[in-house]
Amino acid sequence: MIPPLDELLHARSGPMTADMVLHPADFGLGRVPARLKPAATTNSVCGFCSTGCSLTIHLNANGEAINLSANRDYPVNLGMACPKGWEALTPLAAPDRATTPLLRVKKSGALAPVSWKRALAAFTEHFKRTQRDHGPHSIAFLSTGQIVMEEMALLGALFKFGMGALHCDSNTRQCMATSHVAYKQSFGFDAPPYTYADFEESDALIFIGANPCIAHPIMWQRVMMNKRKPEIVVVDPRATETAQAATLHVVLRPKSDLTLLYGLAHLLIARGAVKKDFIAAHTTNYDAFAAFVATFTPQHTAAETGVPVATLHRLVEIIATREHVSFWWTMGVNQSHEATRTAQAIINLALMTGHIGRPGTGANSITGQCNAMGSRLFGNATSLLGGYDFAKPEHREHVGKILGLAPAQIPDHNGYAYDQILDAIDRGEIRALWVIATNPAHSWINQTRAKEILGKLDFLVVQDMYATTETARMADLVLPAAGWGEKEGILINSERRLGLVKKVARAPGQALSDFAIFQLVAEAWGCGELFRAWSSPEATFQILKQLSAGQPCDFSGIRDYAHIETSGGIQWPFNAAEAAVCSMEDERCQMERPEPSSITHRNSSIQQRRLFADGKFFHADGRAKFLFDPPRPMPEPPDTEYPFILLTGRGSSSQWHTGSRTDKSAVLRKLAPTVLTVEIHPDDAERLGLSAGDRATIRSRRGEAEAIAVVTATVQRGQIFLPMHFEAVNRLTFPSFDPHSRQPSYKACAVAVAKR
Ligand code: SF4
Repeated sequence: MIPPLDELLHARSGPMTADMVLHPADFGLGRVPARLKPAATTNSVCGFCSTGCSLTIHLNANGEAINLSANRDYPVNLGMACPKGWEALTPLAAPDRATTPLLRVKKSGALAPVSWKRALAAFTEHFKRTQRDHGPHSIAFLSTGQIVMEEMALLGALFKFGMGALHCDSNTRQCMATSHVAYKQSFGFDAPPYTYADFEESDALIFIGANPCIAHPIMWQRVMMNKRKPEIVVVDPRATETAQAATLHVVLRPKSDLTLLYGLAHLLIARGAVKKDFIAAHTTNYDAFAAFVATFTPQHTAAETGVPVATLHRLVEIIATREHVSFWWTMGVNQSHEATRTAQAIINLALMTGHIGRPGTGANSITGQCNAMGSRLFGNATSLLGGYDFAKPEHREHVGKILGLAPAQIPDHNGYAYDQILDAIDRGEIRALWVIATNPAHSWINQTRAKEILGKLDFLVVQDMYATTETARMADLVLPAAGWGEKEGILINSERRLGLVKKVARAPGQALSDFAIFQLVAEAWGCGELFRAWSSPEATFQILKQLSAGQPCDFSGIRDYAHIETSGGIQWPFNAAEAAVCSMEDERCQMERPEPSSITHRNSSIQQRRLFADGKFFHADGRAKFLFDPPRPMPEPPDTEYPFILLTGRGSSSQWHTGSRTDKSAVLRKLAPTVLTVEIHPDDAERLGLSAGDRATIRSRRGEAEAIAVVTATVQRGQIFLPMHFEAVNRLTFPSFDPHSRQPSYKACAVAVAKR
């Protein structure tokens, strides 16, 4: 049974008492306030990035968090955490937390506190009226990769099966849609193949459009623990922190990566450095691919990318001669106008050289958000729950059987992607929008238009920890949500590891977990009966286990949350057979090492499992596919009016996305600039009369931003770099999208720069 509202409010977010009030000052790095002595500790997986570090939470006698440290006994982070992890508790204590539902008053136009009953009534009244007047698909939601898997699944099921709507997406579209589609098309399922031990077991690591030094610092620490003296290659137009630490920095023209990768394939074939047996036994379409790359000669590739022929040969030498080569990519690839084919060009390199399925190898997409992997499986947006296909009748029937639904209750096609939802709002087709734990008024590409579009809605609901985000400030209704640490559930990290998040603090005021809010909406909507079995996050986890069974992501061998916790997280696949093998191996380990150390234990097959060791992929024929297309020009190249290329990316390891949480920490604010800065090459700065510290204006065809000049040769001439965390940056970005993944191309557009 779903608990009544009063009980939810009392049990999950009752009034804070003096000893429960958390102050930012209480959470200095690793410092336990003298007045609060820890009574116990518990472990919880971090809720920022996809690394999935485990944090040991120190609790007072009331079971409330008072501090944290990094968990030494977790196979992911081995006692390390980045600044965001160390400060994970601080954003919970921010003074601008949303503590009560807020409804916009017609007369004054201001948001005013209302009861949950009134808020839920307003929600259902507006959304039902919109559906009645404009059709069932005139409502939509935009969600997040930041909430736990059980919440994502309940939201997606409620919206599509309970509310009878179709169009929904999440901010995973902004970071990981490309990897999702690329793997699905190439491997037959969205399946990053690696495990973090591969960082330590590679002889060569090739990072393409990835800056793990600051974007995934604990993964980078794992690279630094590699004892094999590996080659570390970084392919990036900018001399990022990672590029500066690399053994080889391949400096290429922005958005010429697809040509470069085809050029490398050409050279590998010319050199005879391809694994013909592996290709013949485990792949399809190789001959067509080999014929296609025949024209990507070193001279052509060098001319198109700006990479010298000698560097191309050096990189090919590394790939051809090292035994364990791993390829890693993230947003520099995923956020591109030809992102899916670029990701697949990386996959093609791994397949043709047989660098897959063995330790220290793989075509490895590093994920962004803490639960983007969960949303890819259970968001119920582009895939039916569990990675199934809405368009396949047998899939609808199978999922319907598990959930007690008639197949007709499940849509038989996909809804709109994020950009298509916004376009549909623009033309008046979608009239009401529910935004959950994301901030499109800041983060969406070509932000001015995005804000204008959001302003056209008849009704905008924002469900968030804070009522102060750029999007929440535009809302007609704000639903106050609990944050990480104030609720429980599962996050899936980059290496497919399910990790447990614990409730270690009470949400302030009347804020509720997203799970509880979805339950309440289901009741208010009148479809609560459909979700009786989804009575708690852990009960929902049991349902999701059933949905995963038989899929490549099968985790039906996991017993319960306790099993995940005591195992140091569990990577999928983990079916009953694997559970039995691991249980036997675990017993053997215990006998061999009565007091197992996480350091010796961490690379065991229990804790580190990679895919494709048997060369079997997930397409019906068991083979991986070579996929390719000719490169296309950058959508908005520089010209005489806008002569610079704007590059964007993460600014520092202490900043997270739109800053709605990290900006709340005084410690994190000290670790990065609090004003927008622009990196510009010294020659360009001199030409424009700009000195370090000067104010500069950056203009694109869509908007303008002001930034403080940082004069540095980390960027090439004719290029500038802006960190993405500042609201002004997306006033400039150009809205182009990869045709397969519909992921926005944030990384390159034309701008002009002038001294202010
Ligand atoms: Fe959290 Fe990611 Fe930092 Fe680890 S690396 S502590 S998961 S933000």
